Amino acid sequence: MDVDLHCHSTASDGALAPAVVVARAHERGVRLLALTDHDTLEGLPEAAAAAAQLGMQFINGVELSCTWGGATIHILGYGFDLHAPALVEALDALHHGRWQRAEEIGKRLAAKGMPGAFEGARALQQELGCSANAPARPHFADYLVRSGYVKDRAEAFRKWLGSGKLGDVKQHWPELAETVDTLRRAGAWVSLAHPCHYDFTRSKRRKLVADFASAGGHALEVVNGMQPADQVGTLAILAREFGMLVSAGSDFHAPGQWSELGIYRPLPEDLPALSARFKPSQMAFVNSAGI
Ligand code: MN
Ligand code: MN
Ligand code: MN
Repeated sequence: MDVDLHCHSTASDGALAPAVVVARAHERGVRLLALTDHDTLEGLPEAAAAAAQLGMQFINGVELSCTWGGATIHILGYGFDLHAPALVEALDALHHGRWQRAEEIGKRLAAKGMPGAFEGARALQQELGCSANAPARPHFADYLVRSGYVKDRAEAFRKWLGSGKLGDVKQHWPELAETVDTLRRAGAWVSLAHPCHYDFTRSKRRKLVADFASAGGHALEVVNGMQPADQVGTLAILAREFGMLVSAGSDFHAPGQWSELGIYRPLPEDLPALSARFKPSQMAFVNSAGI
């Protein structure tokens, strides 16, 4: 695909530096890219500069966590101003919460005989080239492996960091409507990330989409990587029902895993693509063709 509106770098939980993600996307044929790191804008200037050098179109992006109906939901924002006060303030508050959470994970692991995890996770994260954000669970996992407490990342999550385990420290997130509002005030296009990834019944998912739409959300991420085709169908139906734009992306985090830049199932062609809002040349072509 020549468009990818969902990927991660070392600015959050990705394995590659922002400029490396951009170069890899370009190599794979992507010509319109948005970097959407979790709860940070830190990688955007580097990525934008790298894209400009390659003559590639780049959109500022972010993937924000929030809560709705007792679950953590991800919201994608696109095309905002890097310095928009609404977004900068909201991210400052989240960052503060993430640091507190990382310290708490470190304390809990220390209490179980694994001291130095906070500092170790931080050091590991800095080796990856990213410094301003709190270390996240993958960094803690790698520290536990490196220190010999577990044999691999999978065991680290199974024993200590996975859902419901000691290191699964919950963070306070804003409500969905507040996050949509923050992004809209920053001038962003707003898309609901991977609506089928949440463990919801069909009717609860529909309610999520309804609430997201009435909060001012513009688009649904109808395609996330190689998610099952029937889910694409389900989400396409919801997008039609609520008259929303649709977005798609690989959700790339690292080479050799379950996703790759530019790789995802095709979007149903009858649905209005959010990416068209970022491609004036293509829109002009469509219009001149009289469609
Ligand atoms: Mn992630
Ligand atoms: Mn996500
Ligand atoms: Mn993601």
